[in-house]
Amino acid sequence: MGINVSELYIVATPIGNLADMTERAIQVLSSVDLIAAEDTRHSKRLLQHFSIGTPMLAYHEHGGEQQTEKLLKMLQEGKSIALISDAGTPLISDPGYRIVHEAHARGLKVVPIPGACALISALCAAGLPTNKFAFEGFLPAKQKARCDVLSAVKEDSRTLVFYEAPHRIEDTLKDMCEIFGGERKITLARELTKTFETIKQEPLAQMLEWVSQDSNQRRGEIVLVLEACVTEKVTDLDERSIALLEVLAKELPPKKASKMVAEHYGIPKKTAYEYLLSLKN
Ligand code: SAM
Repeated sequence: MGINVSELYIVATPIGNLADMTERAIQVLSSVDLIAAEDTRHSKRLLQHFSIGTPMLAYHEHGGEQQTEKLLKMLQEGKSIALISDAGTPLISDPGYRIVHEAHARGLKVVPIPGACALISALCAAGLPTNKFAFEGFLPAKQKARCDVLSAVKEDSRTLVFYEAPHRIEDTLKDMCEIFGGERKITLARELTKTFETIKQEPLAQMLEWVSQDSNQRRGEIVLVLEACVTEKVTDLDERSIALLEVLAKELPPKKASKMVAEHYGIPKKTAYEYLLSLKN
């Protein structure tokens, strides 16, 4: 593939299994002028494995504006740069936002090279709805702050995804049980793409028990995928309207059933129709 000057490539690398390295990632990393890596010593092993000899430079977001400026200047001078993190997709709980933001501000082209990402790998294998989800990243390490974040998403109607450190998993599950109740389902996705890959779904209370009793489940890298809050549908309809609506909806299209019930009981057609839609969803 052709590499263009002054382009910033955001390159995903494997999250464990090196066979997940994409052909395009190898091509780009081999062809750019420079690779900006979160940890050059860590990434050296990956590059060596794929016989990539491109020079590397350390890029830490906390390194401040200077590092970002240096890379942007190189891009503006016509160099091509690839950004990689230690594993997975850069910017996803990893450095890169600042340089991508600035590259856009300066009219430079940013090119994603997709590949492994723990968030998406966990989500697609979690067995929970994927039509609407929110990524919460890492929860705060301190309990009070963690519980504040969890309480703020208690009623969220989307599947929630968290990254969590193994030494905090038990405490986090305890807090989740406390805040969401032991019945809410959770999937623990551990060591994805690696030898001890584990993907297990349980109600929170059982998950906490399992993780507490088996220290192996408190090792390695972990993603938690939490079931959305399911609230009972609040409706203005009374029991008689609902009963008639549900009977008619078995035989008639929702619009027709809503219209008949609305006329019969003198209620808004929209309320009846929305109730039927909520049943469908
Ligand atoms: N940018 C990475 C990505 O694309 O997923 C994530 C980087 S973040 C610093 C590291 C966290 O991602 C880990 O603590 C863990 O929560 C999750 N993670 C990374 N690799 C994983 C794996 N193989 N299995 C499960 N979780 C993983």
